[in-house]
Amino acid sequence: MNNNYDVIVIGSGNAGLSLATTMAQAGKSVALFEKHNIPGGCGTSFCRGRFEFEVALHQLSSMGTNVNPGPLRTLFKEYGILDQIEWVEIDTLFSINLPDGRSVSIPADREKAEKSLSEVFPEEKEGILKYFEICFNFYKEASAFAAKSAQSTGEPSAMKKAIMKMGFPKIYPTLAKYGARSTDEVLAELFKGKEIQLCLSAYWCFMGVPPEKFPFSILAQCTAIYISDKPYYVRGGSQMMSQALTEAIRKAGGEVKFNCGVDKIIVENNVAVGVIDENGVKYTANQVVSNISPTMTYNRLIEKENLPEGVIDYFKNYEVGISALTCFIALDCTPEEIGFKDSFNLTYNSLDANGDFKNAYCLDSKIDPIVSTCYTVDDKDGYPAGTSVLTAGTLKFSEAWEKLTPEEYYDAKYAAANDIVDRLEKFYPGFRSHIEEIEVATPLTHMRYLGHPGGSIYGYEQNLKSSVFFFPQETFIKNLEFASGWVNTCGFGPNYLYGNKVAKKLLSEV
Ligand SMILES: Cc1cc2nc3c(=O)[nH]c(=O)nc-3n(C[C@H](O)[C@H](O)[C@H](O)COP(=O)(O)OP(=O)(O)OC[C@H]3O[C@@H](n4cnc5c(N)ncnc54)[C@H](O)[C@@H]3O)c2cc1C
Repeated sequence: MNNNYDVIVIGSGNAGLSLATTMAQAGKSVALFEKHNIPGGCGTSFCRGRFEFEVALHQLSSMGTNVNPGPLRTLFKEYGILDQIEWVEIDTLFSINLPDGRSVSIPADREKAEKSLSEVFPEEKEGILKYFEICFNFYKEASAFAAKSAQSTGEPSAMKKAIMKMGFPKIYPTLAKYGARSTDEVLAELFKGKEIQLCLSAYWCFMGVPPEKFPFSILAQCTAIYISDKPYYVRGGSQMMSQALTEAIRKAGGEVKFNCGVDKIIVENNVAVGVIDENGVKYTANQVVSNISPTMTYNRLIEKENLPEGVIDYFKNYEVGISALTCFIALDCTPEEIGFKDSFNLTYNSLDANGDFKNAYCLDSKIDPIVSTCYTVDDKDGYPAGTSVLTAGTLKFSEAWEKLTPEEYYDAKYAAANDIVDRLEKFYPGFRSHIEEIEVATPLTHMRYLGHPGGSIYGYEQNLKSSVFFFPQETFIKNLEFASGWVNTCGFGPNYLYGNKVAKKLLSEV
């Protein structure tokens, strides 16, 4: 058996799969190691009864349309998988269930969003128009700045240095004005009412930090990207993309090994030269790429004596981010019958999102904002007729869950799920009586399946200090690279694109 490769990839999450695809299609010999028995990491699904449940994807970004393709559509076309997948365009960004019982839906179209929000909040019209103007300008300037800094130098800290350069505010006025501010700060400046602020800040839940800590830079770009490129869902779930990429790697001659976790990275004289899998088999490679967290990579996969000086201290600056408690639910009625109009919904308990978010440290789900997606709203044909398939959950830190005994765990998990169902019942009367299947995942489930510290679903916390401009990208061990939501913006789209970017960089260095 030939155990020598150009590239070894540890983990088949989005970035691991796209990196391996780019490398294999460029003619490199690739081996991808995955500890689970299916590909995808967060991008997987599972079955209960007659239903297949999506694990993670609420909305796919960066696809664009056939006429106006986004970067992800272009990448999937290059990979040859675009036509193997059925893409479902979603026409609303999200709908917000406010504490006063109103539901406010935001269309995935700038003009329509401005119009419908101005109808619901007429006194805020001026702020609404200004908000969208800022988001789109921010996105335009951020894209121009990223393209410029990518051209100018390959140094990872180039962005930080460039920010300090004279003249930056003149060339990038929106970035300079809003780039380092929180969502709460900017929205409070634009709007009088709390309700409109809750409606527009909803993407904080995609990064797992509340509006007071959520960088406005990310909110602005999420809003502009999802409107420009439209939110998408995938018929059959995100597992379809993971499967298609696995087949693309194999078709290009690469190997994908399931039930085959990496136990150790072999490091000689500060150079990564291969891995040892969980069965003790040794493999060598010119390049090792980790699709898992730097925390686990350095602490678990590398022998202590091979750890470079300073690496553990360096990562102490990065806080492990939040996990989630998710109920996977199938109803024996259509979305219309139960009142789901939009697929992606955020349900608030009060106008104080920051205060309610603090419950993320507790076991119960009595006040946390509920993130829910009803897939059958936009994709009826993908599920059994006359049913609704959805996920509904809250963001949770793992600590409280890690302290429970097995008996306490069981009770706590179903009590928290019960809280969520009770609260949904208020917005969607009859909800509980229609439940045909329900399964619950906690932070411990995410720890078990992904192997990430704290069961983190979004990597390191992406707050004002450690977001977009400040990812940990320093290299400590030669020929050991990282490609994942831990060193890049989290999310499906961003990580498929990032895996490809890292692969291109490695190919250009050979
Ligand atoms: C509940 C939930 C909801 C989400 N909602 C959205 C959304 O709507 N939109 C969006 O864009 N993003 C969403 N995300 C985030 C998005 O899914 C992630 O940011 C992205 O998938 C991370 O990809 P990744 O490449 O970092 O790999 P991961 O998905 O983290 O995968 C890492 C892989 O490495 C494997 N692995 C771990 N240890 C080893 C080892 N020692 N050896 C071999 N393999 C190993 C794991 O089994 C896993 O397959 C959500 C995530 C979750 C969990």
